[in-house]
Amino acid sequence: MIEIQNVRKSFGQLEVLKGIDLNVAKGEVVTVIGGSGSGKSTLLTCINGLEPIDSGRIVVDGTEVHAPKTDVNRLRQKIGIVFQQWNAFPHLTVLDNVTLAPRKVLGLGKAEAEAIGEKQLRHVGLGDKLTTYPSRLSGGQQQRMAIARALAMSPDYMLFDEVTSALDPQLVGEVLETLRMLADEGMTMICVTHEMSFARDVSNRVAYFHKGIMAEIGPPQQIFGDPQHPETRQFLASVR
Ligand code: ATP
Ligand code: MG
Repeated sequence: MIEIQNVRKSFGQLEVLKGIDLNVAKGEVVTVIGGSGSGKSTLLTCINGLEPIDSGRIVVDGTEVHAPKTDVNRLRQKIGIVFQQWNAFPHLTVLDNVTLAPRKVLGLGKAEAEAIGEKQLRHVGLGDKLTTYPSRLSGGQQQRMAIARALAMSPDYMLFDEVTSALDPQLVGEVLETLRMLADEGMTMICVTHEMSFARDVSNRVAYFHKGIMAEIGPPQQIFGDPQHPETRQFLASVR
């Protein structure tokens, strides 16, 4: 379980997260929507300890992410994160890119890491691209490789930050299908997305962020069908 309690975070004078409270249960899919600069990406990077917080707490399976005694590297192994773009190592094959962290971070042997990498690449539909170089992949395939790379660490949680935003429209679907598959398999996920139909269909809950505040959270039927907050209504009207 991910517990986010009254988290505040500023960059200099700018308060980007103004007291966020959110619990994400095991197996839950929460999508985060909201305008540019509302703090969505910052929240994800705080959850996996990439960014410090100013106050409040984030607790993942009982471990407080920002406590001084916490082994953040260890914690990060169970929280996979995939961004809009990931720069793969161009001189390594797809499989070698995916097995790098299991070998270096988890200390797995080559054969074991490759078995895991191959399994995850097949899982995302890239079983025929193991020996291909990343530059030969389409944008959608590159994103699926990035997802396979995160999955190869056997994470308990996955954080996705607009993983389809940099893609040509015709490539968005295949990546969303991959996310949908993970959700169906019971992966606990927080997905920042601009894809409202994905948010509507796949999430257990949708959180609407506005200027560093989680203005509204609820099941997709409520957020899309009967938003309570005027800003949510305005935002949804602007993206429809
Ligand atoms: P978008 O939809 O455009 O990705 P977002 O909701 O993800 O927006 P964040 O990236 O979390 O927004 O940024 C929130 C605010 O914090 C923005 O005003 C941004 O400029 C600022 N910000 C983010 N990262 C940093 C940083 N490392 N240093 C300074 N300011 C930052
Ligand atoms: Mg962002």
